[in-house]
Amino acid sequence: MTEREIRKAATKLSPIDVYRTLPRTNCKECGEPNCMAFAAKLVNREVSLEDCPPILKKEHEKAYEKLQEMLAPVIKEITLGSGDHSIKIGGKLVMYRHEFTYHNPAAIALDVTDELPLKPRFEGEEALLDRVKKIEDFSYNYIGRNLSLDMIAIRSTSNDPTTFKSAVENVAKATKLPLILCALDPNVMEAGLVAVQDRRPLLYAATKDNWNNMAELALMYNCPLSVFAPNDLNLLKSLAKTLTEYGVEDLVLDPGTFVDEGLSDTVSNFTMVRRNAVKGGDYLFGFPLIGTPITAWLGKIDSKEEVAWKEAYATCILMSRYADIIVMHSLDGWVQLPTIIWRFNIYTDPRKPVAVDSGLFTFGKPNEMSPLMLTTNYSLTYFTVESDLKKFGGDYYLAVADTEGLSVESAVAGRYLTAELIAETVKNSGAAEKVKHKHLIIPGRAARLSGEIEDELKSVGLPGWRVMVGPMDSSGIAKFLDEAWPPKEK
Ligand code: SF4
Repeated sequence: MTEREIRKAATKLSPIDVYRTLPRTNCKECGEPNCMAFAAKLVNREVSLEDCPPILKKEHEKAYEKLQEMLAPVIKEITLGSGDHSIKIGGKLVMYRHEFTYHNPAAIALDVTDELPLKPRFEGEEALLDRVKKIEDFSYNYIGRNLSLDMIAIRSTSNDPTTFKSAVENVAKATKLPLILCALDPNVMEAGLVAVQDRRPLLYAATKDNWNNMAELALMYNCPLSVFAPNDLNLLKSLAKTLTEYGVEDLVLDPGTFVDEGLSDTVSNFTMVRRNAVKGGDYLFGFPLIGTPITAWLGKIDSKEEVAWKEAYATCILMSRYADIIVMHSLDGWVQLPTIIWRFNIYTDPRKPVAVDSGLFTFGKPNEMSPLMLTTNYSLTYFTVESDLKKFGGDYYLAVADTEGLSVESAVAGRYLTAELIAETVKNSGAAEKVKHKHLIIPGRAARLSGEIEDELKSVGLPGWRVMVGPMDSSGIAKFLDEAWPPKEK
Protein backbone atom coordinates (compact mmCIF):
# COMPACT_ATOMS: atom_id res chain seq x y z
CA MET A 1 0.00 0.00 0.00
CA THR A 2 1.18 3.53 -0.66
CA GLU A 3 1.33 5.98 2.24
CA ARG A 4 -1.69 7.71 0.75
CA GLU A 5 -3.72 4.48 0.69
CA ILE A 6 -2.67 3.57 4.22
CA ARG A 7 -3.78 6.91 5.67
CA LYS A 8 -7.11 6.84 3.83
CA ALA A 9 -7.83 3.34 5.03
CA ALA A 10 -7.40 4.40 8.68
CA THR A 11 -10.65 6.38 8.59
CA LYS A 12 -12.64 3.35 7.41
CA LEU A 13 -11.29 0.85 9.93
CA SER A 14 -13.72 -1.47 11.64
CA PRO A 15 -13.03 -3.31 14.93
CA ILE A 16 -13.25 -6.64 13.12
CA ASP A 17 -10.35 -5.67 10.78
CA VAL A 18 -8.21 -4.90 13.80
CA TYR A 19 -9.38 -7.96 15.76
CA ARG A 20 -8.25 -10.29 12.95
CA THR A 21 -4.69 -9.00 13.28
CA LEU A 22 -4.46 -9.01 17.11
CA PRO A 23 -3.05 -12.13 18.88
CA ARG A 24 -6.67 -13.23 19.70
CA THR A 25 -5.70 -15.07 22.90
CA ASN A 26 -8.18 -13.10 25.08
CA CYS A 27 -5.47 -13.02 27.75
CA LYS A 28 -6.85 -9.80 29.33
CA GLU A 29 -3.34 -8.33 29.84
CA CYS A 30 -4.60 -5.11 28.25
CA GLY A 31 -7.26 -4.77 30.94
CA GLU A 32 -10.09 -5.56 28.51
CA PRO A 33 -12.25 -8.69 28.79
CA ASN A 34 -11.18 -9.93 25.33
CA CYS A 35 -9.39 -8.99 22.10
CA MET A 36 -12.61 -7.83 20.43
CA ALA A 37 -13.27 -5.29 23.19
CA PHE A 38 -9.68 -4.06 22.85
CA ALA A 39 -10.08 -3.80 19.06
CA ALA A 40 -13.22 -1.67 19.46
CA LYS A 41 -11.38 0.71 21.80
CA LEU A 42 -8.35 0.81 19.52
CA VAL A 43 -10.45 1.87 16.54
CA ASN A 44 -12.00 4.60 18.73
CA ARG A 45 -8.46 5.65 19.80
CA GLU A 46 -9.37 5.13 23.46
CA VAL A 47 -6.34 2.84 23.96
CA SER A 48 -3.05 2.51 22.12
CA LEU A 49 -1.64 -0.52 20.37
CA GLU A 50 1.19 -0.68 22.91
CA ASP A 51 -1.39 -1.40 25.65
CA CYS A 52 -1.49 -4.99 24.33
CA PRO A 53 1.78 -6.52 25.67
CA PRO A 54 1.67 -9.72 23.53
CA ILE A 55 1.64 -7.76 20.25
CA LEU A 56 5.03 -6.27 21.18
CA LYS A 57 6.66 -9.71 21.29
CA LYS A 58 9.03 -10.85 18.53
CA GLU A 59 6.63 -13.50 17.19
CA HIS A 60 3.97 -10.82 16.49
CA GLU A 61 6.35 -8.34 14.86
CA LYS A 62 4.67 -8.50 11.45
CA ALA A 63 1.17 -8.15 12.93
CA TYR A 64 2.35 -5.16 14.98
CA GLU A 65 3.71 -3.44 11.87
CA LYS A 66 0.52 -4.18 9.97
CA LEU A 67 -1.63 -2.75 12.78
CA GLN A 68 0.55 0.35 12.93
CA GLU A 69 -0.11 0.86 9.20
CA MET A 70 -3.83 0.22 9.58
CA LEU A 71 -4.14 2.68 12.46
CA ALA A 72 -1.97 5.45 10.94
CA PRO A 73 -4.09 8.65 11.04
CA VAL A 74 -4.64 10.81 7.96
CA ILE A 75 -2.78 13.63 9.68
CA LYS A 76 0.51 12.38 11.00
CA GLU A 77 0.88 12.30 14.78
CA ILE A 78 4.08 14.04 15.88
CA THR A 79 5.69 14.10 19.33
CA LEU A 80 7.16 17.38 20.57
CA GLY A 81 9.41 17.56 23.60
CA SER A 82 10.80 14.55 25.42
CA GLY A 83 10.07 12.26 28.34
CA ASP A 84 7.14 12.90 30.65
CA HIS A 85 6.70 16.43 29.32
CA SER A 86 6.30 15.54 25.67
CA ILE A 87 3.04 16.27 23.88
CA LYS A 88 1.50 14.83 20.73
CA ILE A 89 0.03 16.95 17.98
CA GLY A 90 -1.86 16.00 14.82
CA GLY A 91 -3.14 12.43 14.68
CA LYS A 92 -6.45 13.61 13.17
CA LEU A 93 -8.61 11.26 11.14
CA VAL A 94 -11.43 13.49 9.95
CA MET A 95 -12.39 17.06 9.00
CA TYR A 96 -15.25 17.49 11.48
CA ARG A 97 -15.59 16.47 15.10
CA HIS A 98 -19.09 15.03 14.60
CA GLU A 99 -17.48 12.40 12.32
CA PHE A 100 -14.99 11.23 14.92
CA THR A 101 -13.75 12.77 18.17
CA TYR A 102 -10.74 15.02 17.68
CA HIS A 103 -7.61 13.79 19.43
CA ASN A 104 -4.52 15.66 20.58
CA PRO A 105 -5.83 19.13 21.47
CA ALA A 106 -4.15 22.05 19.70
CA ALA A 107 -1.02 22.95 21.67
CA ILE A 108 -0.86 26.59 22.72
CA ALA A 109 2.64 28.10 22.79
CA LEU A 110 3.44 31.51 24.27
CA ASP A 111 6.48 33.40 23.05
CA VAL A 112 9.56 34.80 24.75
CA THR A 113 12.33 36.61 22.90
CA ASP A 114 16.07 36.19 23.29
CA GLU A 115 16.42 39.92 23.97
CA LEU A 116 14.37 39.92 27.17
CA PRO A 117 16.53 40.60 30.24
CA LEU A 118 16.91 37.57 32.47
CA LYS A 119 15.42 39.43 35.45
CA PRO A 120 13.69 42.84 35.57
CA ARG A 121 16.16 45.74 35.79
CA PHE A 122 13.51 48.18 36.96
CA GLU A 123 10.03 47.82 38.39
CA GLY A 124 7.45 46.70 35.85
CA GLU A 125 9.97 45.55 33.21
CA GLU A 126 9.07 42.24 31.61
CA ALA A 127 11.84 39.67 32.05
CA LEU A 128 12.58 36.24 30.61
CA LEU A 129 12.33 34.10 33.74
CA ASP A 130 9.21 35.86 35.04
CA ARG A 131 7.45 35.36 31.74
CA VAL A 132 8.42 31.69 31.57
CA LYS A 133 7.08 31.19 35.09
CA LYS A 134 3.82 32.96 34.25
CA ILE A 135 3.35 30.74 31.18
CA GLU A 136 4.10 27.61 33.15
CA ASP A 137 1.86 28.60 36.08
CA PHE A 138 -1.12 29.66 33.97
CA SER A 139 -3.97 27.38 34.90
CA TYR A 140 -7.74 27.61 35.09
CA ASN A 141 -10.12 25.09 36.60
CA TYR A 142 -13.09 24.69 34.28
CA ILE A 143 -15.83 22.22 35.30
CA GLY A 144 -13.30 20.12 37.16
CA ARG A 145 -10.55 20.16 34.51
CA ASN A 146 -7.29 22.06 34.86
CA LEU A 147 -6.71 23.94 31.61
CA SER A 148 -3.20 25.23 30.97
CA LEU A 149 -0.72 26.35 28.31
CA ASP A 150 1.52 23.82 26.62
CA MET A 151 4.70 25.18 25.08
CA ILE A 152 7.16 28.05 24.97
CA ALA A 153 8.27 29.52 21.65
CA ILE A 154 11.71 31.13 21.95
CA ARG A 155 12.08 33.74 19.23
CA SER A 156 15.43 35.05 18.07
CA THR A 157 14.84 38.77 17.68
CA SER A 158 18.56 39.49 18.14
CA ASN A 159 19.53 37.23 15.21
CA ASP A 160 22.71 36.57 17.15
CA PRO A 161 23.74 32.93 17.80
CA THR A 162 25.30 33.61 21.22
CA THR A 163 22.32 35.60 22.48
CA PHE A 164 19.88 32.97 21.22
CA LYS A 165 21.85 30.11 22.74
CA SER A 166 21.94 31.84 26.12
CA ALA A 167 18.18 32.51 26.08
CA VAL A 168 17.44 28.89 25.10
CA GLU A 169 19.68 27.59 27.89
CA ASN A 170 18.00 29.83 30.46
CA VAL A 171 14.49 28.89 29.36
CA ALA A 172 15.35 25.19 29.31
CA LYS A 173 16.71 25.41 32.86
CA ALA A 174 13.56 27.18 34.04
CA THR A 175 10.91 24.90 32.52
CA LYS A 176 10.29 21.37 31.28
CA LEU A 177 7.58 22.53 28.86
CA PRO A 178 8.22 21.53 25.21
CA LEU A 179 9.96 24.25 23.20
CA ILE A 180 9.71 25.82 19.75
CA LEU A 181 12.94 27.40 18.54
CA CYS A 182 12.18 30.27 16.15
CA ALA A 183 15.01 31.50 13.92
CA LEU A 184 15.26 31.69 10.14
CA ASP A 185 19.07 31.80 10.14
CA PRO A 186 20.37 28.21 10.39
CA ASN A 187 23.46 29.36 12.33
CA VAL A 188 21.31 31.00 14.98
CA MET A 189 19.03 27.95 15.03
CA GLU A 190 21.92 25.53 15.52
CA ALA A 191 23.35 27.59 18.38
CA GLY A 192 20.05 27.31 20.23
CA LEU A 193 19.48 23.70 19.24
CA VAL A 194 22.80 22.56 20.65
CA ALA A 195 21.65 23.80 24.06
CA VAL A 196 18.51 21.62 24.06
CA GLN A 197 19.35 18.76 21.72
CA ASP A 198 17.85 16.16 24.08
CA ARG A 199 14.52 18.06 24.36
CA ARG A 200 13.28 17.46 20.79
CA PRO A 201 12.12 21.04 20.14
CA LEU A 202 10.14 22.02 17.07
CA LEU A 203 12.35 23.98 14.66
CA TYR A 204 10.62 26.99 13.17
CA ALA A 205 11.04 27.32 10.23
CA ALA A 206 12.24 25.98 6.89
CA THR A 207 11.56 28.34 3.98
CA LYS A 208 12.38 28.31 0.26
CA ASP A 209 15.64 30.07 1.14
CA ASN A 210 16.96 28.00 4.04
CA TRP A 211 15.28 24.57 3.69
CA ASN A 212 18.50 22.71 2.97
CA ASN A 213 20.32 23.80 6.12
CA MET A 214 17.21 23.46 8.26
CA ALA A 215 16.65 19.93 6.96
CA GLU A 216 20.23 19.04 7.89
CA LEU A 217 19.63 20.31 11.43
CA ALA A 218 16.33 18.43 11.73
CA LEU A 219 18.01 15.20 10.62
CA MET A 220 21.16 15.67 12.68
CA TYR A 221 19.25 16.39 15.92
CA ASN A 222 16.17 14.27 15.17
CA CYS A 223 13.74 17.17 15.55
CA PRO A 224 10.42 17.99 13.89
CA LEU A 225 10.62 20.83 11.40
CA SER A 226 8.10 23.51 10.57
CA VAL A 227 7.68 24.54 6.92
CA PHE A 228 6.75 28.16 6.26
CA ALA A 229 5.25 29.34 2.96
CA PRO A 230 2.94 32.29 3.67
CA ASN A 231 -0.16 32.36 1.48
CA ASP A 232 1.40 30.05 -1.12
CA LEU A 233 0.07 26.50 -0.94
CA ASN A 234 1.97 25.38 -4.05
CA LEU A 235 5.25 26.39 -2.45
CA LEU A 236 4.19 24.79 0.86
CA LYS A 237 3.50 21.50 -0.88
CA SER A 238 6.66 21.67 -2.94
CA LEU A 239 8.74 22.28 0.21
CA ALA A 240 6.96 19.41 2.01
CA LYS A 241 7.79 17.13 -0.94
CA THR A 242 11.43 18.21 -1.05
CA LEU A 243 11.87 17.83 2.69
CA THR A 244 10.23 14.39 2.91
CA GLU A 245 12.37 13.19 -0.02
CA TYR A 246 15.38 14.59 1.83
CA GLY A 247 14.46 12.33 4.74
CA VAL A 248 12.72 14.67 7.19
CA GLU A 249 9.68 12.71 8.35
CA ASP A 250 8.11 14.97 10.97
CA LEU A 251 6.90 18.19 9.39
CA VAL A 252 4.55 20.87 10.70
CA LEU A 253 2.99 23.04 8.00
CA ASP A 254 2.59 26.81 8.26
CA PRO A 255 0.53 28.36 5.43
CA GLY A 256 0.89 31.78 7.15
CA THR A 257 -1.42 33.61 9.56
CA PHE A 258 -2.77 37.07 8.73
CA VAL A 259 -5.16 38.55 11.26
CA ASP A 260 -6.49 41.64 9.47
CA GLU A 261 -7.62 41.70 5.82
CA GLY A 262 -5.79 38.40 5.28
CA LEU A 263 -7.81 36.46 7.86
CA SER A 264 -10.20 35.06 5.30
CA ASP A 265 -7.29 33.85 3.10
CA THR A 266 -5.67 32.35 6.19
CA VAL A 267 -8.77 30.33 7.10
CA SER A 268 -9.21 29.32 3.50
CA ASN A 269 -5.57 28.11 3.26
CA PHE A 270 -5.77 26.10 6.48
CA THR A 271 -9.04 24.54 5.31
CA MET A 272 -7.71 23.66 1.85
CA VAL A 273 -4.61 22.02 3.29
CA ARG A 274 -6.67 19.91 5.68
CA ARG A 275 -9.35 19.10 3.11
CA ASN A 276 -6.78 17.98 0.55
CA ALA A 277 -5.20 15.72 3.14
CA VAL A 278 -8.38 14.20 4.59
CA LYS A 279 -10.73 14.13 1.60
CA GLY A 280 -8.21 14.14 -1.24
CA GLY A 281 -5.66 11.79 0.33
CA ASP A 282 -2.82 14.22 -0.41
CA TYR A 283 -0.19 12.90 1.98
CA LEU A 284 2.09 15.90 1.43
CA PHE A 285 -0.54 17.95 3.27
CA GLY A 286 -1.07 15.17 5.84
CA PHE A 287 0.95 16.89 8.56
CA PRO A 288 -0.08 19.00 11.57
CA LEU A 289 -0.69 22.70 10.98
CA ILE A 290 0.78 25.57 12.96
CA GLY A 291 -1.05 28.91 13.27
CA THR A 292 0.70 32.07 14.44
CA PRO A 293 -1.87 34.65 15.63
CA ILE A 294 1.13 36.31 17.31
CA THR A 295 1.53 38.09 13.94
CA ALA A 296 -1.19 40.48 15.19
CA TRP A 297 1.61 42.19 17.12
CA LEU A 298 3.81 42.76 14.05
CA GLY A 299 2.04 45.84 12.70
CA LYS A 300 1.61 49.31 14.15
CA ILE A 301 0.13 49.08 17.67
CA ASP A 302 -2.33 51.84 18.54
CA SER A 303 -4.13 49.89 21.22
CA LYS A 304 -2.70 46.81 22.93
CA GLU A 305 -6.21 45.66 23.87
CA GLU A 306 -7.33 45.76 20.25
CA VAL A 307 -4.30 43.73 19.11
CA ALA A 308 -4.80 41.20 21.91
CA TRP A 309 -8.46 40.90 20.94
CA LYS A 310 -7.49 40.20 17.29
CA GLU A 311 -5.00 37.62 18.52
CA ALA A 312 -7.70 35.93 20.64
CA TYR A 313 -10.30 35.67 17.89
CA ALA A 314 -7.74 34.55 15.29
CA THR A 315 -6.65 31.84 17.73
CA CYS A 316 -10.20 30.59 18.29
CA ILE A 317 -10.90 30.60 14.53
CA LEU A 318 -7.71 28.70 13.72
CA MET A 319 -8.26 26.13 16.46
CA SER A 320 -11.61 25.46 14.79
CA ARG A 321 -9.99 25.39 11.33
CA TYR A 322 -7.55 23.27 11.80
CA ALA A 323 -4.45 24.40 13.65
CA ASP A 324 -2.65 21.77 15.72
CA ILE A 325 -0.29 24.32 17.31
CA ILE A 326 -0.97 27.98 18.03
CA VAL A 327 1.73 30.55 18.82
CA MET A 328 0.52 33.55 20.82
CA HIS A 329 1.94 36.52 22.68
CA SER A 330 -0.72 37.85 25.04
CA LEU A 331 -0.82 36.24 28.46
CA ASP A 332 -3.76 38.30 29.72
CA GLY A 333 -6.46 36.21 31.38
CA TRP A 334 -9.20 37.76 29.24
CA VAL A 335 -7.33 36.57 26.11
CA GLN A 336 -6.33 33.12 27.34
CA LEU A 337 -9.56 32.07 29.09
CA PRO A 338 -11.78 32.07 25.99
CA THR A 339 -9.09 30.31 23.96
CA ILE A 340 -8.44 27.47 26.40
CA ILE A 341 -12.16 26.99 27.08
CA TRP A 342 -12.90 27.00 23.36
CA ARG A 343 -10.19 24.40 22.85
CA PHE A 344 -11.60 22.29 25.68
CA ASN A 345 -15.03 22.32 24.06
CA ILE A 346 -13.75 21.46 20.58
CA TYR A 347 -11.76 18.51 21.86
CA THR A 348 -14.32 16.88 24.16
CA ASP A 349 -15.99 13.75 22.83
CA PRO A 350 -19.34 14.94 21.38
CA ARG A 351 -20.79 11.49 22.12
CA LYS A 352 -20.00 11.65 25.84
CA PRO A 353 -21.19 14.45 28.11
CA VAL A 354 -18.47 15.71 30.44
CA ALA A 355 -18.96 13.92 33.74
CA VAL A 356 -17.55 13.95 37.27
CA ASP A 357 -17.10 10.95 39.55
CA SER A 358 -20.18 9.68 41.34
CA GLY A 359 -20.17 9.09 45.13
CA LEU A 360 -20.55 11.09 48.32
CA PHE A 361 -19.12 14.61 48.62
CA THR A 362 -18.96 16.78 51.73
CA PHE A 363 -19.13 20.56 52.11
CA GLY A 364 -18.05 22.28 55.31
CA LYS A 365 -17.98 19.92 58.31
CA PRO A 366 -21.19 17.93 58.07
CA ASN A 367 -22.40 15.83 61.02
CA GLU A 368 -25.13 13.24 61.45
CA MET A 369 -27.87 15.89 61.36
CA SER A 370 -26.60 17.79 58.28
CA PRO A 371 -28.76 17.85 55.12
CA LEU A 372 -28.15 15.08 52.59
CA MET A 373 -28.82 16.15 49.00
CA LEU A 374 -28.62 14.38 45.69
CA THR A 375 -27.62 15.43 42.18
CA THR A 376 -26.29 13.87 38.96
CA ASN A 377 -22.75 13.57 37.64
CA TYR A 378 -23.13 15.89 34.63
CA SER A 379 -20.18 18.29 35.13
CA LEU A 380 -22.12 21.48 34.59
CA THR A 381 -24.85 20.34 37.00
CA TYR A 382 -22.38 19.20 39.64
CA PHE A 383 -20.23 22.33 39.53
CA THR A 384 -23.27 24.62 39.59
CA VAL A 385 -24.55 22.84 42.72
CA GLU A 386 -21.05 22.83 44.22
CA SER A 387 -20.62 26.54 43.59
CA ASP A 388 -24.02 27.34 45.17
CA LEU A 389 -23.31 25.20 48.25
CA LYS A 390 -19.91 26.85 48.73
CA LYS A 391 -21.46 30.27 48.28
CA PHE A 392 -24.14 29.55 50.94
CA GLY A 393 -21.59 28.18 53.43
CA GLY A 394 -22.87 25.60 55.91
CA ASP A 395 -22.33 21.85 56.21
CA TYR A 396 -23.82 19.39 53.75
CA TYR A 397 -23.58 15.92 52.25
CA LEU A 398 -24.06 15.65 48.50
CA ALA A 399 -24.64 12.22 46.93
CA VAL A 400 -23.85 12.20 43.20
CA ALA A 401 -25.60 9.60 41.05
CA ASP A 402 -23.91 8.20 37.93
CA THR A 403 -26.29 9.20 35.13
CA GLU A 404 -23.53 8.84 32.50
CA GLY A 405 -23.05 12.58 32.46
CA LEU A 406 -26.68 13.62 31.97
CA SER A 407 -28.30 16.56 33.75
CA VAL A 408 -31.20 15.92 36.17
CA GLU A 409 -34.02 16.73 33.75
CA SER A 410 -32.54 14.76 30.81
CA ALA A 411 -31.61 11.85 33.06
CA VAL A 412 -35.14 11.59 34.49
CA ALA A 413 -36.68 11.84 31.00
CA GLY A 414 -34.29 9.24 29.54
CA ARG A 415 -34.61 6.93 32.59
CA TYR A 416 -30.94 7.34 33.45
CA LEU A 417 -31.96 8.75 36.85
CA THR A 418 -34.37 6.27 38.35
CA ALA A 419 -35.63 5.52 41.86
CA GLU A 420 -33.50 2.35 41.83
CA LEU A 421 -30.32 4.26 40.95
CA ILE A 422 -30.98 6.87 43.64
CA ALA A 423 -31.55 4.21 46.30
CA GLU A 424 -28.36 2.41 45.25
CA THR A 425 -26.42 5.68 45.29
CA VAL A 426 -27.57 6.48 48.83
CA LYS A 427 -26.68 2.97 49.98
CA ASN A 428 -23.43 2.36 48.07
CA SER A 429 -21.92 5.81 48.61
CA GLY A 430 -22.15 5.29 52.38
CA ALA A 431 -24.45 8.33 52.71
CA ALA A 432 -27.04 6.42 54.75
CA GLU A 433 -24.45 5.61 57.43
CA LYS A 434 -23.37 9.23 57.78
CA VAL A 435 -26.71 10.67 58.86
CA LYS A 436 -29.24 9.79 61.55
CA HIS A 437 -32.18 11.77 60.22
CA LYS A 438 -33.16 9.50 57.25
CA HIS A 439 -34.11 12.41 54.95
CA LEU A 440 -32.94 12.73 51.35
CA ILE A 441 -33.37 16.01 49.46
CA ILE A 442 -33.75 15.41 45.72
CA PRO A 443 -33.68 18.08 42.95
CA GLY A 444 -37.06 19.65 42.13
CA ARG A 445 -36.68 18.38 38.56
CA ALA A 446 -36.76 14.79 39.84
CA ALA A 447 -39.91 15.39 41.94
CA ARG A 448 -41.94 12.74 40.15
CA LEU A 449 -39.63 10.02 41.44
CA SER A 450 -40.13 10.90 45.11
CA GLY A 451 -42.72 8.24 46.03
CA GLU A 452 -40.90 5.48 44.18
CA ILE A 453 -37.58 6.40 45.83
CA GLU A 454 -38.98 5.81 49.32
CA ASP A 455 -40.09 2.31 48.22
CA GLU A 456 -36.73 1.56 46.61
CA LEU A 457 -34.81 2.75 49.67
CA LYS A 458 -36.86 0.27 51.69
CA SER A 459 -36.06 -2.53 49.26
CA VAL A 460 -32.28 -1.90 49.51
CA GLY A 461 -32.44 -2.19 53.29
CA LEU A 462 -33.04 1.46 54.21
CA PRO A 463 -36.56 1.52 55.70
CA GLY A 464 -38.13 4.65 57.13
CA TRP A 465 -36.45 7.11 54.76
CA ARG A 466 -38.35 10.16 53.58
CA VAL A 467 -37.75 12.08 50.37
CA MET A 468 -37.93 15.88 50.42
CA VAL A 469 -38.33 17.63 47.05
CA GLY A 470 -35.82 20.46 46.86
CA PRO A 471 -35.84 23.55 44.63
CA MET A 472 -35.91 23.43 40.82
CA ASP A 473 -32.59 25.23 40.73
CA SER A 474 -29.67 24.88 43.16
CA SER A 475 -29.62 28.66 43.65
CA GLY A 476 -32.76 28.13 45.75
CA ILE A 477 -31.15 25.65 48.17
CA ALA A 478 -30.40 28.20 50.91
CA LYS A 479 -34.00 29.48 50.96
CA PHE A 480 -35.33 25.90 50.84
CA LEU A 481 -33.22 24.85 53.83
CA ASP A 482 -34.18 27.97 55.79
CA GLU A 483 -37.81 26.97 55.46
CA ALA A 484 -37.63 23.17 55.54
CA TRP A 485 -34.56 22.14 57.59
CA PRO A 486 -34.46 20.52 60.08
CA PRO A 487 -37.38 18.47 58.83
CA LYS A 488 -40.44 18.05 60.98
CA GLU A 489 -41.01 14.46 62.01
CA LYS A 490 -44.22 12.88 60.73
S1 SF4 B 1 -3.65 -8.03 25.74
FE1 SF4 B 1 -3.78 -8.26 23.52
S2 SF4 B 1 -4.00 -10.43 23.20
FE2 SF4 B 1 -4.50 -10.06 25.35
S3 SF4 B 1 -6.74 -9.70 25.39
FE3 SF4 B 1 -5.78 -7.74 25.16
S4 SF4 B 1 -5.77 -7.42 22.97
FE4 SF4 B 1 -6.08 -9.59 23.26
